Amino acid sequence: MRNTNKKLIFKCIKDNLNLSKRIIAEKLGLSTTTVATVINELESDGKIKTCGTAKSTGGRKSLLYEVNPAAGYATGIDIQVDRIIFVLLDFAGNLVSTKEIPLTDKSEWVVATVLNDVIPEFAQENKISMDEILGIGLGVPGIVNERSGVIDFAPNLEWENVNLRSLLKCQAPIVVENEANAAALGEKGFGVGRNVSDMIYVSVGMGVGCGIIIENRLFSGTSFNAGEFGHMTVEYDGPACKCGKRGCWEVFASNKAALNRYKEKSGLALKDFDEFVQRLIAGEELALAVADDIVKYLGIGIGNIVNGLNPQMVVLGGKLTEAKEVIYDKILQQIKCFTLSKSLTELEIQFSALNSKASAMGVAGIVLDQAVEGL
Ligand SMILES: [Zn+2]
Repeated sequence: MRNTNKKLIFKCIKDNLNLSKRIIAEKLGLSTTTVATVINELESDGKIKTCGTAKSTGGRKSLLYEVNPAAGYATGIDIQVDRIIFVLLDFAGNLVSTKEIPLTDKSEWVVATVLNDVIPEFAQENKISMDEILGIGLGVPGIVNERSGVIDFAPNLEWENVNLRSLLKCQAPIVVENEANAAALGEKGFGVGRNVSDMIYVSVGMGVGCGIIIENRLFSGTSFNAGEFGHMTVEYDGPACKCGKRGCWEVFASNKAALNRYKEKSGLALKDFDEFVQRLIAGEELALAVADDIVKYLGIGIGNIVNGLNPQMVVLGGKLTEAKEVIYDKILQQIKCFTLSKSLTELEIQFSALNSKASAMGVAGIVLDQAVEGL
């Protein structure tokens, strides 16, 4: 009971600005004595601190509280196919620092060596000792067994049954999560989804993956494989997909699909998806035509998802969103074409607010949540 109250009171202080003991007691329906005892404990543990005073009704000044940002830090790491993104969050969830390093060799041994070097280096650059790191969150583009932390399968990294956690030298607890799930949690905790309870994050990259938030919680599925909408069939006799089926959504809507389509239409192989986005932003006719195809399929897939789950918000993430000025109206129009009108009425379509940091912030957020659970 005491621990439950402690977590409740801490979360209340975290979610609201400048609260006094009396207001906290009122908000949570607890006695002021209980609140005062817990607050003393949290304060002497250094988890919260005072942040000024407010006049109470009797004219006496009451102390206000906030989370102590220096009570610990979380490192979030997003392992992408060609780069690793690091973020550091303080105990209050503020973004302290970010770092990005290119990845030329994707083998798990090389990735582990890089992480073992960079994790302490990153803390040191921010003048934080490794003792202050509450945990490390890892986001990976693959299927993760959330219980064991083992990455069952990450096709774009060419990883199978990789226990990255066991390869890291770090003493702090390590959590591993799928990148789209992590990005969904990132947007929910720190981005556009903060005030939304039902949300789908659609990660458009070399594949298409989704993170599903239902009633404020991540939905992982029985085999931790929920959100693989990239492999829903949109054309039953369509082109082969790397999953072994044909006509999957990501064959038509991913960045890879855009590059293939561009090559089909022009005979020209672009260097990478960045180049496609640049051409799109510059208004190149061919890139615009390819984007129309891609956006149509994004609309089909998102429409199907929305019809099935009726979320409040769909958040689109990935490099394509850098061209949001060009594609926003088109995508909205396509989603409308394929979505039941009843599900459209309260649906909000957003682009990721955290962009390339969404997954890293999401996994760092898991670390912070676990620290609160352990209070
Ligand atoms: Zn597939």
